[in-house]
Order: sequence, then C-alpha cells, then structure tokens
Amino acid sequence: MTSREEEKRLEKLGAFEISSELLQLAQHNQKGNLFLNAGRGNPNWINAKARLAFTRIIEFGVEESERTISQGDLAGYIQLEGIFERFETFLTPKTKKIDQFLLDAVNYVHDALNIDQAEFIKELADGAIGNNYPVPSRILKNSERVINAYLESVLYRGEKLAEQTDLFPTEGGTAAIVYLFNSLKENKLIKKGDKIAINTPIFTPYLQIPELNDYELVEVDLRSNEEHNWQIQASEVDKLKGEGIKAFFSVNPSNPGAMAFNDAALAEIEKVIAEKPELMIITDDVYGTFVEDFKTIYSVAPYNTLLVYSYSKLFGATGWRLGVIAANKKNVFDHLINQLALIDQKELAARYSINTLEPEKLKFIDRMVADSRSVGLYHTAGLSTPQQIMEVLFSLTHLVTQEKDAYIEDTKKIIDQRYQALFKGLMLEPNTSKENSKYYALIDLYQLAEKLYGPDFSNYLAAHFEQVDFLYNLSQKNGVVLMDGVGFGTKPGELRVSEANLPNKDYGIIAKQILELLDEYHQNFLQQE
Ligand SMILES: *Cc1c(COP(=O)(O)O)cnc(C)c1O
Repeated sequence: MTSREEEKRLEKLGAFEISSELLQLAQHNQKGNLFLNAGRGNPNWINAKARLAFTRIIEFGVEESERTISQGDLAGYIQLEGIFERFETFLTPKTKKIDQFLLDAVNYVHDALNIDQAEFIKELADGAIGNNYPVPSRILKNSERVINAYLESVLYRGEKLAEQTDLFPTEGGTAAIVYLFNSLKENKLIKKGDKIAINTPIFTPYLQIPELNDYELVEVDLRSNEEHNWQIQASEVDKLKGEGIKAFFSVNPSNPGAMAFNDAALAEIEKVIAEKPELMIITDDVYGTFVEDFKTIYSVAPYNTLLVYSYSKLFGATGWRLGVIAANKKNVFDHLINQLALIDQKELAARYSINTLEPEKLKFIDRMVADSRSVGLYHTAGLSTPQQIMEVLFSLTHLVTQEKDAYIEDTKKIIDQRYQALFKGLMLEPNTSKENSKYYALIDLYQLAEKLYGPDFSNYLAAHFEQVDFLYNLSQKNGVVLMDGVGFGTKPGELRVSEANLPNKDYGIIAKQILELLDEYHQNFLQQE
C-alpha cells in the first residue's frame, strides 16, 4: 500500500482510532527518534494521598471485620458501635502522615457537613471492603454529601447548590455520557428529528454516538471567534434561541479548544433560558479545575442543566473509572417527563413499574440508574462501593485544604509549563486568556506554514496532501503522535496536542519535530517550483 492509500484508509476512522494506528508507526519511526505520544489526554501524574488513604481504610476495614468473625482468611462484618474510637486508636498520625489526612477528613465531614463520624467511618470501611451491594443504589448516603461539597467548591464559584443537588456516580464520564443519552431517549425527551446544539469542536463521542445520528444537529461553533481570542461569544450562545432547538450539549472547558465559558457567555445562557425555560442543557465539566475561578453552566442554570464530572483527569485516575452525574432536585427533565403525552406517560409508567409503586414519580436521575441496568437489574445497580469511596477520598483531599489547594495548583502549573514550552518552541503567541485551561492546545498547521514560509506554501500544503498527511509523516518519520482536530469538528489543519501525558522537557522536542518536518515539506515545495 502506498502511504497515500494508507492515509485514505486512516481517514475513515475516528480520531482516537487514527491516533492508535499512528502510534504503531511512531514506535518504529524512520529517524530513530525518541517516540513521543502527545495524542491522548491521559495525565502522567496521579494523586498519591487519596490512594494511600484508601489502603489505610482497607487495613482498618479488615481489622474491623475480624472482630466479628476470624477464621484464617475468613473474616466477618463491620459493626457501628464504637467504630469512631477504634478508628482513632488505629490511626497513628505521628508516624504516618496519611493518617493525619484521614483524621482531618473525619473532622471535616463532622464540622462542615454535620455528618456523624461513626456512620461516616463505617460507610468508608464497608464501602472500601465492598461487602454489600451499593445501597441506596444511586449513591451511598454520606458519600453524596461529600461529593456534592466537592463539586460545589471546585465548579460552582460560590453558588450554594450542594444541598439541592442529586448525584449518580458512574463508571467514569464515559458511562455518564452513555447513560444520559440512553435515558433521554428512553424517556422520550429527545426524539428523532429534534434539534440539538453542540459547541464545536467537541470531544468526539458527542459527534459519534449513534443515537445522535437520528437527530438533526445544529452546531453552535465556538471556534469561529478567533479574532476574539477564542472566547465563546454571546452572539454564538444566542443561537440556542433558534426555533426547535431542544437541548444543548456542551463540554466546558472545551476539548480540544480548552476554553471555558466566560462570564459574558454565562450571562447569555441565563438570557436564553429566561426566553426558553424548557431548554435542556448537558454540561461536561471534566476540565473545570484546570481553569482559575471556573464557573459551570450549572451555577447559572441549575434547573435546566445536568452536569457531568470525572475524576480521571485531575487525579490521574482513568483506570479507576470515576465519574458522576449531577441534577438539581427541581429540574426541567422531570418537568418535561410530566408534560409528555398521556400515551407516552403510560408506556413509561409500565417500563418502571417493577422498580417502584409510583413509577410516574420516579425522578429522571433515578430513571438513569434503572436504565443503566436495563431496568430489570435496578436492585443491583449503582457504581461499585470501592469506586464510590475513592471518589469520596479524592474529593476530601480538596475539601480539607484551606484556601488554595496545592495539588490543584500544581497540576495547573505543570500543564502551563508544557503549554509555554510548546508555544515557545513553535515561536507562536500563547493564548493568555484566563479561561484557557491549557490542557490541550490546537496548532493551526496552515497558519504556522504561512507565518514561516508565506501564503503560497500554505496553500500548496492545503491543496496537495491528504488531510492526515502531516500527522502521518510526523509519526512515521519523526516519531511524534498528535491528534487530528477534524475528528472533533475543527477545520482541516488543526493539530491537537495534549499537555497532560508527557514529561515537561518533551514539549520543546515536539515543537522542534513539527518545525523540522514542516521545513522538509517546504524544501519539496521549492524543488517543485
Ligand atoms: C476524558 C473525557 C471524558 C471521559 O472521562 P472518563 O471519566 O475517563 O470516562 C469525558 N468528557 C470529556 C470531555 C473528556 O475529555
């Protein structure tokens, strides 16, 4: 196969699949360079504290279990009576630093959230040990309060919404997205032919989920505002007022654009819902903590918005699969279910009648729990309890900090250093907007070509090659893997660089390889003339 044929074949694949193929090429690159994969968003850091705390909870939980039955490897169950005192005895904060964190955490939930310490410790120990089905199936009782406090602290910028928010922890943001789309469809909130707005470019699954193929997509293109420093303009948000648009799916801060909605854009969302009180909004805020002073759409439109969050990126926990869906206790989704035609309501009541005696009152978020296990397995639904406890411990690492969270600040510093190194290496102006999460950077190849070698070369580059040609050669020759922005809905020539997954020093090398390859294309161009 010629490389051109190979490239045509690749272009049929999704952006993440192309990236996997390029990986193979890059590992055996022609120049024998160090292989560098800046394609994926998986971070190369982890949060150590919550993980160490988890092992301590397991140790404590096993000791507790052995108090009731202890025969070799067989242990019993955990008792509530006196558990707080035994936990304090178990912890040795003087010799083990992690134990001080656990003490602080238990004090925090008591003082700030008014949670009974013994009950909380039992929830942690039982949950980490995993000795029972998740009960209640949607989320463990005190875990919900802690995760709510965390979301409020990192995403709501001062709005006090924790107490009026229901949560459903899921197997990563991935499962959250799957469950959401599925239940919106099953509950007839989105039907064939409905219009859905999306802020593009966007995380590819939002473009690829087959359920969406039936819908007429209306794209609200947030990238069209390059002259406005990539800021999402109020006039773009205003498009949501358009006739027939029922829902808005947003990734905020965006992936791959990496920008968060600013205050003007958020104010415009408020105006839109004042005019369209039945608009459904889904916001995926996975990157919220990477923006200084972030404010989610849920803060300005709690009634209309379902929020998706994931612990994957901030805590380096993609293997754990930790996500959560948040919904206001009063929300448009429940309202719209109540407004459905009688025949549809009857059908849905029948669907959920095995789960509850009053299926018509089942909240949308609980319908998602039921649907996530095909309704019939509702009684064993819910995220595994060890996963729920891990979410709680990650949340607590933040909640026990006073004022600034050093861990969050450090992750921001790391991606900033990488971002700066990349832009310096490419001799491009970095985007200094405060809404820029910098988790990803989009490099406009044609603009770079024009800046370095003039418009004729840039036009030649755009006209003479398959769209993935540059990325293909960058992998095959230079050993550097980046992602094609087109799969995310960008214009051709946008390359996505992830600042998450390589050591800082590699970002200068990536820039150098891009420039070196571009120079080779330029040499060929000159020879042609
Ligand atoms: C990474 C990512 C996710 C997936 O999160 P997981 O918790 O790892 O499944 C969801 N949404 C966006 C925008 C992401 O970038």
